[in-house]
Amino acid sequence: MCGIVGYVGNRDAYPVLVKGLYRLEYRGYDSAGLALIDPSGNLNVYKCKGKVADLEKYVAPMDPQGQIGIAHTRWATHGVPNDANAHPHFSQSHDIALVHNGIIENYHVLKAALIENGYSFRSDTDTEVLANLIEYVRRTNDCSLLEAVQSALKQVIGAYAIAVVEKGNPDEIIAARKSSPMVIGVGEGEFFLASDATPIVEYTDRVVYLNDGEIAVINRNKELKVFTFDNQESRVDIKRLQMSISQLEKGGYSHFMLKEIHQQPETIVDCIRGRINSESGLVTLSGVIANREKFVNARRIIFVACGTSWHASLIGEHLIEDICRIPAEVEYASEFRYRNPVIHPDDVVIAVSQSGETADTLAAVELARSHGAFVFGICNVIGSSIARATDSGAYIHVGPEIGVASTKAFTGQVTVMAMLALTVARERESVDPAVYTEIVNGLLELPSALNEVLKIDGQIKDLAKIFTYARNFIYLGRGYNYPTALEGALKLKEISYIHAEGYPAAEMKHGPIALIDNEMPTIVVAVPDKTYEKTVSNIQEIKARGGKIIAVIARDDTTVRRMADYCIEVPVVTECLMPIVVSIPLQLLAYYIAVYKGRDVDQPRNLAKSVTVE
Ligand code: GLU
Repeated sequence: MCGIVGYVGNRDAYPVLVKGLYRLEYRGYDSAGLALIDPSGNLNVYKCKGKVADLEKYVAPMDPQGQIGIAHTRWATHGVPNDANAHPHFSQSHDIALVHNGIIENYHVLKAALIENGYSFRSDTDTEVLANLIEYVRRTNDCSLLEAVQSALKQVIGAYAIAVVEKGNPDEIIAARKSSPMVIGVGEGEFFLASDATPIVEYTDRVVYLNDGEIAVINRNKELKVFTFDNQESRVDIKRLQMSISQLEKGGYSHFMLKEIHQQPETIVDCIRGRINSESGLVTLSGVIANREKFVNARRIIFVACGTSWHASLIGEHLIEDICRIPAEVEYASEFRYRNPVIHPDDVVIAVSQSGETADTLAAVELARSHGAFVFGICNVIGSSIARATDSGAYIHVGPEIGVASTKAFTGQVTVMAMLALTVARERESVDPAVYTEIVNGLLELPSALNEVLKIDGQIKDLAKIFTYARNFIYLGRGYNYPTALEGALKLKEISYIHAEGYPAAEMKHGPIALIDNEMPTIVVAVPDKTYEKTVSNIQEIKARGGKIIAVIARDDTTVRRMADYCIEVPVVTECLMPIVVSIPLQLLAYYIAVYKGRDVDQPRNLAKSVTVE
C-alpha cells in the first residue's frame, strides 16, 4: 500500500512533500521519509519510524533544502516498521534514493545475486534490493538512469510503483508502475507525483495517470516523457482532475470518519444524480445500457471484492437474484484469483473497490477478462486501475473517502448496485413494475431518511458510552440485513479493536448462541421485512440465555421494543435499501466506541485504506 509523493520544480520541495504525505497517510502510516537533492547537489535522506507528524518533528529542525524530492509513508510488508526499513532507501553508494509501493516478490534471488557482486544491505525490505539493482545496472552498463530503471524492472517480479532520484541528476525523477497507482501532476515548469491525486489537487488540475508497465521521465526543464519498459514512447494523455481541496479537509468534524458518516445524505444525492429521471421515474446506468446484451443475457453475475466492498456485494447479489432473476455469486477476490474458478464468456463479473486499486480485485479482473467474461467495475476513485482495467463500469461518486474505515463508499456501492439491478431488471422485464417503482421511490427518499437517522447521533453516542468496555459483540441480521450485520461488526473491529462477529440471525442456534451470557451484547437488526417475526424469535432465544439486546427497529415497532434492552429507531424505506439506513447508526456506534476508547479512528493500527498488496 503506502503513499508516494514527488516534486520537481522551483518551489521548496519539503513542504510540498510533507503536505502530500499527510494526504496519503491513509494508505499506510508505520514509518515515513523523504529524499531531497539540496542546492549543492547532495542527496539527503530523512526517515523514521512513526507517522508523518513524527517525521516532521524529526526533520524540520534540520531545515531540509531542495527543489526536487521524493517521499513515502509506509505500510510494512517486508521488515518491521523501524527507521532502517523506512523509505526512501539509498543504494549502496548513496547515489540513488528510491521509494516503493508494493512487493518485489523475487527480492531474495536478486539480493543474493547483488551480495555476490559485493553489495551489502542495511534494511530487511524488499525495496532496498531495487535501489541497489538500479545502481548495479547503471554502473555495469554505463547507461542513463532511465535505462537502468527499465532494465532493473525487467528483472523484477511483483507489484510496484516507484520513484527514483539520483545525486548529480538534480532535475529529474524517474517514476514507474506495475499494478500500483501513480499520478503525475503537470504544472508550469514543475511536476508533482503521487499515489493518488490528493496531494496534487491544490497545485494543478492537469494530471497524467501512468499505465501499468510505464516509466515516466519527469524533468523540470523538459516536457513529460513516458516510455514502456521496452523503451517505446507512450502518448502522454493529460486529464482534468475533478476534485476540490475542501473534499480533503475535515470541515469542522473531529475525524474524517465522522465527516464521511454525516456526508451520506449528500453523497447518495451525488451517487444517483443524473441516473434517475425524475419525470419518468426510470433508472439508467449508462455503463449497463451501453452493454445491454451482456447484462440481459448474462448466464451468471459474479461479484469480486474484498472487505467492506465484499459486504456491499452480498447485498448486490441479493438484489440481482431478487429482481433480475439472474444467478449471482459473491467471491472474495483474493480466493477467486487463485482457485481456478469456472468463468464462462457469458458471465458478467462485477469488480467492486472503493479505491479501484485493490490488488486482489485487480487480479480477479484480469483473470475474468482472460476467460472472456465481461467485466464491470464499481469504484469511487476516478481513473483508478480497476476503473481502467474493466470493460465498463459505474462510479459511486461519493467523493474522496479518507477515513480508513469505509462508510460513505459502502452506502454508495449499495446504491449503485440497486440502480444496476433496476436497470438490468427493466431491460429483462423481470421485475414487477410496482416493485420497480417502489425501489426507485426508495432511492429518492434515501437522502431524507439518512438525514433523519443522523439526528440520533447524540443518542448513539450515549449508547456507545454504555458499551465502551464490552470485550465482544455479536451482530445479527437476516436477508438484506445479514450483510449489514457483517459490516457493522467489521466497523467495530477495525476502529475499536473489539472482537465482533456478524451472523445471519437464524444461524445463532447452530453454534454462536453458546457465546451468549450477560457480558455479550448482541446488536440485532429487526426492521420490518419478510423475516421480522423470525428475528423476533431469535431475540427471544438470546434473552432466554441472559444476553443483552441492542435492537435496530422501525419507529413504530412495539414488539421488539418491549424485549430489547436498548433500541435504535430508524426510518423505514423499501426493504432492499434498508441496509443503507441501518448501517448509519452502526457506523456511528463503532465510531463513538472507538473515540471513547481513545483509538486512532482515522488511522487504526495495522490497517491501510487501499490494499494494493496481496
Ligand atoms: N514492500 C515494501 C516494504 O515493506 C513497501 C511496502 C509499502 O508499499 O509501503 O517496505
